Parts: sequence; C-alpha cells; structure tokens
Amino acid sequence: MIIGVTGGKGGTGKTVLAVNLAVALAGKASVAYLDCDADCPSAHIIVGAELQNKQGVYSFLPEFIEEKCTHCGKCTSVCQFNALYQLKGEAPTLVESLCSGCGACMLACPFGAIKESRKTIGWTHAYEKYGIDFFSGELRPGEPLSEKIVDAVKERGLAKEYDIVVVDTAAGAHCQVVCALEGCDKALAVTEPTQFGMHDLEVISEVLNKLGIPFETIVNRSTISDKKIESSLEIPYDKKMIECYVEGVPIIEKYPKHPISKKIAEFAERLIK
Ligand code: SF4
Ligand code: SF4
Repeated sequence: MIIGVTGGKGGTGKTVLAVNLAVALAGKASVAYLDCDADCPSAHIIVGAELQNKQGVYSFLPEFIEEKCTHCGKCTSVCQFNALYQLKGEAPTLVESLCSGCGACMLACPFGAIKESRKTIGWTHAYEKYGIDFFSGELRPGEPLSEKIVDAVKERGLAKEYDIVVVDTAAGAHCQVVCALEGCDKALAVTEPTQFGMHDLEVISEVLNKLGIPFETIVNRSTISDKKIESSLEIPYDKKMIECYVEGVPIIEKYPKHPISKKIAEFAERLIK
C-alpha cells in the first residue's frame, strides 16, 4: 500500500506525523519512507539520521557539434522552453538553466549536429532508521526540475517490495506534489485549525479529488483554536511533541505510552486493516 502524506500548507507538522506513522507501522510490516520534498528534505532531521548513499540524478543536455551545424534553426524553433537562442548565421546557444532536458532539439536536428550530454540536477539518498528504509531527494540549488528528483526518489524507493510505502510530499499543491502523489493508493491530508490551514486543505482536497486518490484528514495541533474540521485523527498541541521535534526523535519512539503515541499507533493499525 502506498500512502501519500500531504497537506497543502507548510508547517502543519506533516513530516512529523508521517514519520511517527511510519515508525508505528514498522513494527507490523516492512516500511519504506520516501521523503519527496526535493527542495527541503527534512525527515532525516526528524529521525536524527544522516543522509547517506548519495546517488546523482541527471538530466539530458544538448551538446552541439559545430562542424555539423548548418545553422538551420530547427532546434531553436522546437524548443518550448526558450532555452536556445540563435543569432543569424550562427550556431544555437544554450541557456542551461532554462533547459528541461526534453531532448526535442536533438530529435529535430536533421544533420545529427546535437549529441547527448547530461547535467547533475540533484541527488537521492538512502538511509535506515527504526527498521524503516528511508529515501530522500535533494534538488541542486538553482535547478528547476524538482519533479525529476521526485521521480528518482520513487524509482529508488520502489525498486524493492515493501508492505507499506509512506510518501511524504512537499508543502503546496504544485507539480512536485502531484508527481509525488501519483500512484498513491490513499492519502492523508495534514492540516491545522487556522484560516490558512482550512484554505490550503481545500486546495489539496481538490488536487486529490482530481487525481482520484481517496484521502482522510488529520488535524494537527487541534487545540490551538475552536475551529472544527472534519477529520479521522486529531492531534492536540502538546509540549512533548515539541520536545521530540527539537531532539529529533519521534514521540512514538521516545514516549510510546503517551496518549498522542497511542492515538497514532491506533490510527496506523486501522490504516492497514
Ligand atoms: S532539451 Fe528541450 S528544453 Fe533543452 S534545449 Fe533541447 S528542446 Fe530546449
Ligand atoms: S537543428 Fe541542427 S543543424 Fe540546425 S541549427 Fe540546430 S544544431 Fe544546427
């Protein structure tokens, strides 16, 4: 079962809850955790682990063979990303930061004047903690292709079979989040009882409905306001949660008998029934 943990708004405690759920599930099944926040991976900090087993993620980059180029301009005209510009009578010039790596220019060149090169756009990592195999992605600063990092994390994490795969998405409802959620059997939308939380929950609900992914809502820090949100699980504001967050240890690990740990464990059990 692949469970997406998402939420629209940033700062709702989504990763903290996703990690605690994964730890609760790890006692009952084989679990992989995919940290798909390519811009800011943080699950390793929350479980107090080091990023390890770094592997590069690459993207296609066109390399021009000057002696073969007739300056016909076909490659420049097919580039949808305006990554190529060409002065009259000259070979095209590549603006690397705009290149999506689609390869259309190479296919369009009738003279074989473009060959395949590649650039490093980021990395994936793999590490183990609490009996869970963690995988995370890291986008190289300044690179725009975060979806490719998410794809690489998913490919690496799903190469082996697990009973449960927890997919922790980035905040927001953008392409990177959609990419992470694709293929999930169900999702958990984590929010908080604030105006912002309710607004962003609406947005992510729309995305999940469009993707056809059934989801349940979790309200974190449910006691910080009187606002009521229909949900499957409410986690009250609690100093022990903050303490564990600061120390980089899941509450379910440090205080397994705490009422919040028990709630999370019961919820995890229901999830896999
Ligand atoms: S690979 Fe795609 S985006 Fe990059 S220059 Fe070629 S056509 Fe443009
Ligand atoms: S399509 Fe090929 S030959 Fe034409 S300008 Fe581009 S690289 Fe040169």
